[in-house]
Amino acid sequence: MKIICIGRNYAKHIAELANERPTHPVVFLKPDSAILAKKMPFFIPAFSSDIHYEVEVLVKIHKVGKHIDAKFAHKYYDEIGLGIDFTARDVQSQCKEKGLPWEKAKAFDGSAVIGDFYPKSNFDLDSIKFQLYQNDTLVQDGNTEAMLWKIDELIAYVSQFFTLKKGDVIFTGTPAGVGRVSTNDILRGTLEEKEAFQVKIK
Ligand code: MG
Repeated sequence: MKIICIGRNYAKHIAELANERPTHPVVFLKPDSAILAKKMPFFIPAFSSDIHYEVEVLVKIHKVGKHIDAKFAHKYYDEIGLGIDFTARDVQSQCKEKGLPWEKAKAFDGSAVIGDFYPKSNFDLDSIKFQLYQNDTLVQDGNTEAMLWKIDELIAYVSQFFTLKKGDVIFTGTPAGVGRVSTNDILRGTLEEKEAFQVKIK
């Protein structure tokens, strides 16, 4: 399986990192080795001193497709989840400065937290509420209504480049409020008030 990630999909997050608003979705990949095993802690890697959490709504693909039209995109996924796109912000800033690819900052081992999935019929996809708590402090408070590109538009866009396969996961971008993690933090994500994951930082 592969993990397809969308960057800069929420205007307030673009502003907090002083990024340019893109004219098309920003896309990058994580390999399956990036997945943090369930119930395992996240170990801050030695190569970074500025690991950020980014909570994101996840979409799980359940059917092969390429060049999918947005109006048929809903047929290619049936589950919604929540996860974290861990980012080595210091490494990413160096990559950005030099115009280099982001993989070292985004695709390293453990950088993809994939929480529980729920049937998409449980949600109003245009207004899914999701939150991230860092040690019981609410740090990110998102709603998919603020996405620049909606889920079906993202599927149409990314499937022009990548064949989507059953089991692939799309990270749909993070809202404002990203920040640094510290040793012993507990990160807890909720999707419509239901806990979708919990991760300890080591
Ligand atoms: Mg992200």
